[in-house]
Amino acid sequence: MKVLECPFCSIAEQMPIDVILIENEHSLAFRDLYPISKGHTLVIPKEHIEDYFHLSSEQTQSIWSLVAETKELLQESHKPDGFNVGINIGSAAGQTVSHCHVHVIPRYEGDIQDPRGGIRWTIPQNARYWD
Ligand code: 5GP
Ligand code: ZN
Repeated sequence: MKVLECPFCSIAEQMPIDVILIENEHSLAFRDLYPISKGHTLVIPKEHIEDYFHLSSEQTQSIWSLVAETKELLQESHKPDGFNVGINIGSAAGQTVSHCHVHVIPRYEGDIQDPRGGIRWTIPQNARYWD
């Protein structure tokens, strides 16, 4: 995917400022357009880098600092009971937008029947280890 076609670069460069929830020097946070839970937020590096492991240590630090701030904002605004935080790195791992992003997914008691395992369900056939 070229930078010009990247939906996240468009957000960074063209969208009105109120779409961006918070930002710091190297990262910004905005709502996922197709949220899997109320408040589902993405934190990205401002620079178009596809692979999380290709970020500089400064960018990595900046991203995790903004993830922590995003958590605080969501805790205040949505009052969730938990979070899933995760990164899909590479198409084999499910990455569909080729601009690195951290999913911050608020979770709510009862939002699914049995939440045990959380991100283990990326590979459903191996998720259950408890019975
Ligand atoms: P991935 O599968 O790459 O980890 O996640 C891509 C995420 O980007 C998905 O959760 C999807 O809903 C979100 N997404 C895709 N296109 C757009 C967009 O144009 N704007 C926003 N805000 N989110 C998007
Ligand atoms: Zn991009």
